[in-house]
Amino acid sequence: KSFLQCGLPEKILKIMEKREYETPFPIQMQAMPALMCGRDVIGVAQTGSGKTIAYLLPLIRHIMDQPPLANGDGPVGFVVAPTRELALQIQREANTFCKAVNLTSVCAYGGGPMGEQLSALKKGAELLVGTPGRLIDVLTTSGGKITNLRRVTFLVLDEADRMFDMGFEPQIGMFLQSTRPDKQVAMFSATLPAHVEALARKVLKKPLEISV
Ligand code: AMP
Repeated sequence: KSFLQCGLPEKILKIMEKREYETPFPIQMQAMPALMCGRDVIGVAQTGSGKTIAYLLPLIRHIMDQPPLANGDGPVGFVVAPTRELALQIQREANTFCKAVNLTSVCAYGGGPMGEQLSALKKGAELLVGTPGRLIDVLTTSGGKITNLRRVTFLVLDEADRMFDMGFEPQIGMFLQSTRPDKQVAMFSATLPAHVEALARKVLKKPLEISV
């Protein structure tokens, strides 16, 4: 198996080639084809498993299939992560791929410059990555006129167990409620405690369950 069989854009494959990422990791082998077909996925995987690329590349492919960003449009791709370190790491990785295919990504993380995050969002971005609290802030500030989740059709909840542990369940609930019911959802979690599994059952539609 190789990334070449995944139906990824040439420019993305070039980056993988340059990095000498020849063989997909197990989570990538299993999650990428499902996500590329539009399926929901629940992945039980640790950091270091390669889960970030497993969801980012199908996410970017998904965005490329949507109509281009128009004035005032919110993002199509939305990734929520528990900590600023993780959110920044995800967006840094996403940005490498986004730049190659002329997409814009923004990271809205707690403790970061709110003004800069807002102006970047106002200019428009196809992909929004962030931490729950700050995401709520950027979405509700100025009466919700800066950006919105109305176009989100691909949602990723990364390290879901940690987000629950940190008390972000209400924020996650808000993100799920204010995005389209027909969105694709990918959820990743290092462990699968009962409350995370319950959320997955409620939110994901016939998900492919992957454990690596
Ligand atoms: P993650 O679990 O997403 O944090 O990824 C762990 C590390 O593995 C990151 O530094 C990735 O860039 C790297 N990585 C991801 N996929 C591959 C791959 N197929 N081959 C080699 N390295 C990879």
